[in-house]
Amino acid sequence: MWQYFMPTKVLFSQKVVEQSKELLRTFGKNALIVTGKTSSRLNGSLNDVENALNSIDIEYHTYDKIEENPTFEQIRTAVGECKDQSFDFVIGVGGGSPLDSAKAIAVLLKNPSLGVEDLYDASKYNSSLPIIAVPTTSGTGSEVTQYSVLTDDMGFKRGFSHEKIFPALALIDPTYTLSMGTSLTRSTGLDALCHAVEGFLSKRATLISDLYAIEAMRLIRDNLPVVLKEPDNYKAREAMAYASSLAGMVISQTSTTLAHVLGYPLSTFKGIRHGDATAAFLGAIVSGAQSEVPEKVDLVRKIFGKIDEFIASAGLSIKVQITDDELERWIKRAISANHMRWTRGKFTEDLIRELYEGVRAN
Ligand code: NAP
Ligand code: FE
Repeated sequence: MWQYFMPTKVLFSQKVVEQSKELLRTFGKNALIVTGKTSSRLNGSLNDVENALNSIDIEYHTYDKIEENPTFEQIRTAVGECKDQSFDFVIGVGGGSPLDSAKAIAVLLKNPSLGVEDLYDASKYNSSLPIIAVPTTSGTGSEVTQYSVLTDDMGFKRGFSHEKIFPALALIDPTYTLSMGTSLTRSTGLDALCHAVEGFLSKRATLISDLYAIEAMRLIRDNLPVVLKEPDNYKAREAMAYASSLAGMVISQTSTTLAHVLGYPLSTFKGIRHGDATAAFLGAIVSGAQSEVPEKVDLVRKIFGKIDEFIASAGLSIKVQITDDELERWIKRAISANHMRWTRGKFTEDLIRELYEGVRAN
């Protein structure tokens, strides 16, 4: 048996927000826009969304305080500030951080008796305000996933998953990604790469997710080097936006695997961007899968050659100070993570220690 479920309506085009006014009208009269502090004002996305809402007389409030790696506390503050107004739907505008925050906020506004921790117990709720996602990075695929990744009060990144947080609508305009600088282009592109490869090698991979993963891997191989060299190349940006959404559809079926878990503390405790932190461990995921799905690993190698070399050629090199205490805590978390169940290969504590030693400067 195989199954496929990804209920988001996806519209992909330049000027797609402007072209979707009539569709936006069907969501109600009052919108909450959730975005970050600066970039959505600079790349035109926030302006496009606000203009579209103005032109069809939808009232809105713009909440623009979401930061990278959004925390439980940021979500509590946002909900506290917005809960007294009545919203019909939530529009996330930005990278994965505003999109994931929009998902959490949409559930909490719809279910006012819940706290942020309750989001992690899917049995506690079965509804959310409708979510519209307007991505401005080509990376997380959050516009087509049922996941939201937040940083808990201990500083650890934890994802929650619920069918009700699949965006109802994803409006993807690759133009917004043209303003990404080199390091953001690399880290978000590598995140999409990790989603495609981890999903392809996951124990939960399906016929359809494999189809998407192979196409996403090819597109990323052909276009990530181009967007890094020629940031204004629209065709290549468009291909990366497409690849990123395809890779998001892959993980919506397969979830992510150990590379993501290993990368999380590097982001929250060491400030390494999510895609960079994850990609540092992707080579190990590919090698780990060799004994279980050799034909799939062959295909990944056929597409990229040595994946570590492809990643290094994008400019990734990570060396951070990690204390012995941190190392042991991170290993324990990785070993007990759900993602281990979908990861192929045998990842012992010693192997994970070795992988962290590979990015350790001290
Ligand atoms: P992000 O954390 O949303 O944003 C990173 C930075 O990029 C911010 O400073 C942001 O500015 C800026 N930025 C966004 N779009 C830009 C543009 N077009 N041009 C210039 N700068 C831009 O980055 P992200 O990599 O997209 O998201 C990472 C987050 O997503 C992590 O928390 C990760 O755990 C999560 N994630 C979620 C999923 C999922 O399925 N839900 C999957 C993978 C990763 P502002 O601060 O002004 O907004
Ligand atoms: Fe990711």
